Amino acid sequence: MKRRPLWPFGSDTRICVSLGEPNTVALREQFDHLEGADLVEIRLDALDTLRDLTRETLTDLVMNSPVPVGFTLRPMWQDGGFDGDELDRRRFLEEAAISGAAFIDVELDAEWAADFLDDAQCPVVASHHWNSARPADLSQKVERVGRLAPSMAKLVATAEVASDSLPLLRAGQQLIMSGQPATCFCMGEAGKASRLLAAGQGSALVYAAASVGNEVAAGQWSLRELVDEFQMNRWQQGTRLCGLIGHPISHSLSPAIFNAVIQERGLNVAYIPIAGGDLDAALDLAIDMDFQGLSVTMPFKDEIALRSTRQDDLVATVGAANTVVFEDDGFVAYNTDGSALVDALATVRPVERAKIAVVGAGGAGRAGASALVAAGAVVTIVNRTVAHAKEAAELCSCSGGGLQQLEVEDFDIVVNATPVGMRSTPLAGSTPFPPKWLSGREVVLDMVYRPLTTPLLRQAIERGCTTIQGLEMFIRQAAAQYRLLMADPDVEPLSAMRNVAEHLLIDE
Ligand code: NAP
Repeated sequence: MKRRPLWPFGSDTRICVSLGEPNTVALREQFDHLEGADLVEIRLDALDTLRDLTRETLTDLVMNSPVPVGFTLRPMWQDGGFDGDELDRRRFLEEAAISGAAFIDVELDAEWAADFLDDAQCPVVASHHWNSARPADLSQKVERVGRLAPSMAKLVATAEVASDSLPLLRAGQQLIMSGQPATCFCMGEAGKASRLLAAGQGSALVYAAASVGNEVAAGQWSLRELVDEFQMNRWQQGTRLCGLIGHPISHSLSPAIFNAVIQERGLNVAYIPIAGGDLDAALDLAIDMDFQGLSVTMPFKDEIALRSTRQDDLVATVGAANTVVFEDDGFVAYNTDGSALVDALATVRPVERAKIAVVGAGGAGRAGASALVAAGAVVTIVNRTVAHAKEAAELCSCSGGGLQQLEVEDFDIVVNATPVGMRSTPLAGSTPFPPKWLSGREVVLDMVYRPLTTPLLRQAIERGCTTIQGLEMFIRQAAAQYRLLMADPDVEPLSAMRNVAEHLLIDE
């Protein structure tokens, strides 16, 4: 058998930007935005002008790209855009292969794949895509990869839940351990974590979108997210994992602020969000991939507390957790929201003996109220549904009542622990209670931090109140999570977290 070109890009994971543009002008424009990318994949099947494409044009693309260029011409039978016959397709790819391409992607099931591999002048990626989860013929495809021995194998299924990625990640591990360069992961929102996890286990490539909104396949991270937020270029062998579960989490600030501190501390850790609304599936993936621990956000805060094997005092009291650390036989649940609220308020005034109204009886309201009681405050939980306020008050050893209490009573501090005022929701323009009930002497903290200045805070400022943005609490709960997850107790990550979060929120 002829010796085939080896995958030439070494053992580190390379970031390959997939470009699916309608013409070569648009492709060249994208070349200006590839900083941080190692390679680019041009999807020839996305071109409107494919039939006019000459070898000169292909060579011109290769010569003008700032990074090596690979070519893919995905047929319709693999959910691509090329509807011509297979002979034509092979001819196009043979032209592309001699144009200076860094690689050519050929489908594992193409009848001519073995011949193409034998004759190719450049590295060949042998790929297979399933538009279903947990494909029954995965092991046959792995065997075929073994027979063809391409420069790189790419096996991709479509996840419905996070744990659907596990068979693909295991197949990737098996191939890589056998010396076969590979990248095996899942597409789709629920597969997003697997793209990062595959990179963490040494896959040859991670495919990225040129920018958010320019995804060529469902669930692709953008180049900027991989480079700036996950700092993938600094990942090394044996990167330890921790992350975030919740639904939805696509707009969470946590990956950016955690990874910024991880980089500042020089730790070999990656903080990875696991998307999806199925808690069992998210936990299965995290446990199987040996995560150290997780941040936990809505809607899993109560359920995760119930499932924990051990709990801190606040979780035991209020039944809501926002952090878990895995142990051999389960996980410990912590709640850092309570201390974060107390600490954020303490930047403005002592909470001991202060008369405080917590508006909202959900997980955050209960955690905040309980921690404030423990810190010596006199707390009343007020809520739209009075029965919920009463139940929460009983758990937190404080009083509870309806929202109207804010009108008739004076409080030193008022805390909003409802989602009212949150950007991009139907409640974005609203306040959780009429601001005219504020006398102007209160300190007002809004747990909502998107936008930074909520309608409640804006009106509280107009009435002369001292205000505290939800960001002050957010970075404090994240800093406390960081210390638990990283076992890095002496670090003070607040200013790094604040800088990154402010930068992201001010841009919104
Ligand atoms: P949750 O469990 O869903 O609780 C929601 C609470 O808000 C309930 O008491 C609910 O009242 C009340 N509520 C919902 N919609 C309302 C409306 N239209 N008018 C009046 N009250 C309403 O949520 P959570 O986990 O406690 O979180 C609450 C908020 O705090 C969220 O916006 C979350 O993002 C934010 N948070 C911020 C931080 C931070 O660090 N800054 C930390 C944790 C949470 P009913 O009982 O009547 O349904």
